[in-house]
Amino acid sequence: MSMLTVEGLDAGYGATNVLRKLSFSVQRGAIVALLGANGAGKTTALRALSGEIPARGRIAFNGVELAGLSAARRVELGLALVPQGRGTFTDFTVEENLELGAYTVASRGQIAADIERWYALFPRLRERRRQPAGTLSGGEQQMLAIARALMSRPRMLMCDEPSLGLAPAITQEMFAIFERVNAEQGTTILIVEQNAELTLRIASRGYVMEVGEIMLEGSAAELLASSTIQNAYLGA
Ligand code: ATP
Repeated sequence: MSMLTVEGLDAGYGATNVLRKLSFSVQRGAIVALLGANGAGKTTALRALSGEIPARGRIAFNGVELAGLSAARRVELGLALVPQGRGTFTDFTVEENLELGAYTVASRGQIAADIERWYALFPRLRERRRQPAGTLSGGEQQMLAIARALMSRPRMLMCDEPSLGLAPAITQEMFAIFERVNAEQGTTILIVEQNAELTLRIASRGYVMEVGEIMLEGSAAELLASSTIQNAYLGA
């Protein structure tokens, strides 16, 4: 069963078209990798899916057509984006950031329980709960951005280059958390990454973008073994 089906998506900036009839799908409950060189259009694809920039084409999410819906409505329907560069509110504390992430959740009790759940998964956020987000390390800010997105109780989490600027050990820790969230909450996860190898190790399927369209797709195992991927991304 498909959680997300994208068909013939066109989007860009002004007169420049970046996506060229982009089509791909994400199975319910899967972790899927969206790979590609710098400038291939991965970030643009996530921005079009989240409703941040206008797009033409079909986006079927959990049986609902998203075209024309606002970004806020897409979050309410269960589609959450962790943007590249994290986008936490730097002047607000860790806990305030988490509360702000729960704007789609009405019950105070549910919000408090969710904050506890994510503190259990990200103990360092609990230790720093009263600290302004801007004073966190890069890795901690990335964890906060992910926890904040999870506060909206998404069916699907889209994460734009979560490993950017992080030490390898922190990246490993974060990818282990993706696996846990996927296994324990059943959250479908789409990860845009430069780190192809690490992402394909936790994904079941992957897509490789080139100039606005998918040029290669397959199971994670197939992509890890593919010579194109080996040469382009794994330094073989
Ligand atoms: P990276 O891995 O470097 O983040 P990407 O695959 O995510 O790359 P995009 O960020 O989607 O690629 O960029 C695709 C193209 O769109 C690039 O040529 C880029 O210069 C262009 N682009 C991105 N953002 C804008 C913008 N706000 N205005 C104009 N052009 C843009």
